[in-house]
Amino acid sequence: MPSAVVTRFAPSPTGFLHIGGARTALFNWAYARANGGKMLLRIEDTDRERSSEEAIEAILSGLQWLGIDWDGEPIYQSRNLERHRDVVNTLLENGNAYRCYASLEELETMREEARAAGRSAVYNGLWRDRDPADATPGVSPAIRLKTPMTGETVIEDHVQGRVVFKNEDLDDLIILRSDGTPTYMLAVVADDHDMGVTHIIRGDDHLANAARQMLIYEALQWPVPGMAHIPLIHGADGKKLSKRHGALGVEAYRDMGYLPEALRNYLARLGWSHGDDEIFSTGQLHAWFGFDGMGKSAARFDFAKLENLNGHYLRTGDDNHLFEALIGYLNTQEAPPFSASTIKANKATLTALMPQLKERAKIIPDLLTSAQFLFAKRPLELTEKACGTLSEDAKATLSGLSETLKALGNWDKEAIEAALHAFIEERGLKFGKVGQPLRAALTGGTPSPGLADVLAALGKDESLARLGDQI
Ligand code: GLU
Repeated sequence: MPSAVVTRFAPSPTGFLHIGGARTALFNWAYARANGGKMLLRIEDTDRERSSEEAIEAILSGLQWLGIDWDGEPIYQSRNLERHRDVVNTLLENGNAYRCYASLEELETMREEARAAGRSAVYNGLWRDRDPADATPGVSPAIRLKTPMTGETVIEDHVQGRVVFKNEDLDDLIILRSDGTPTYMLAVVADDHDMGVTHIIRGDDHLANAARQMLIYEALQWPVPGMAHIPLIHGADGKKLSKRHGALGVEAYRDMGYLPEALRNYLARLGWSHGDDEIFSTGQLHAWFGFDGMGKSAARFDFAKLENLNGHYLRTGDDNHLFEALIGYLNTQEAPPFSASTIKANKATLTALMPQLKERAKIIPDLLTSAQFLFAKRPLELTEKACGTLSEDAKATLSGLSETLKALGNWDKEAIEAALHAFIEERGLKFGKVGQPLRAALTGGTPSPGLADVLAALGKDESLARLGDQI
């Protein structure tokens, strides 16, 4: 029976969880979930200089916000140091590794020679078969893997297909530095093996590393996990992703007002497809995800598409859920237009108004833009355009309308709508003649839902007071 699928996401905590890393995590998660397996999280924090607690926090909270959950506790690579050294010792003992005492000058000469000869492998095997007794006393050696000098290393990649590396191009790579610290190449192999990883899914910038890692697996006679190297994300112009293109941390998307479900859907489609499906739930992603749907060429990040998708999730989102998302958004803002407590105090009104607010929204702050009339303080400040609609004639009309509304017993949307229509018909007016000044008086000219919704949401007293202010 094939062993159960185990994937892993292995970020280096040297910065935030950027959009490419988030997609790698998403694919590992989707593959594990699609196969009833596990996704593990390994924090590759062996570079003590460049790793930071803040980055670890940002990665964990970024994944949590995106709704990507991993199995078990995060594994910290730095804690496996002893194990890594043991693995190096095993390689020394089985003759697949050796101590290299080459001096910096010797290495520099090798580099120059390799450059001159156009060779990609730099190390010339100087200490491969030499007796350590020849070493200059006091020099601490680095430990190198004794890699095959001929033949090929072949990766049968689930995405890239068969990728062949000539062994003569692969160096005797260092697995333990002269200061006793294991290299990335060794640590990744040891950890993936110990964690029982069956599938390595990561960016295709790691493809060349995969060949070197494969040599370590072989030297240890360990089974090699399946590999899937996914094309990187490029900007809409096809160039390498930069900040301008959207190479931001996921928290930047949260702070801009994207919904995690929309970003998940968007990232899943970036490099993977399931027929013509553009919109799918997480459940569908988990059911459908596989390497078949993965493209070989770089995916292009497209802000407009993300925004449209987010608009879709807003329009179809549950109103209570959107209310919570609104609170979550406000809590991330340094200078929120309204405080979360103001919004919470108006929960009933806002949730009732949500079907109208979300109609044209693309990002969460658009909901607030359409709702700002609710929180405006009397007397309202009017935009120039709104002012322009309040002619003497218009004011007289509003005065009449105010009387009609005052007489209204039932202050709900339907009753208000009926009263508005009756008023307009009775006076033989065009709708705009009433609608424009009415909206100006009620909202000051800010974007807002339909007039009956606005009146219902403001309540009778506030509505009449706002009309009174302008008459
Ligand atoms: N820590 C590596 C990175 O962040 C990933 C290593 C791997 O997936 O094998 O690029």
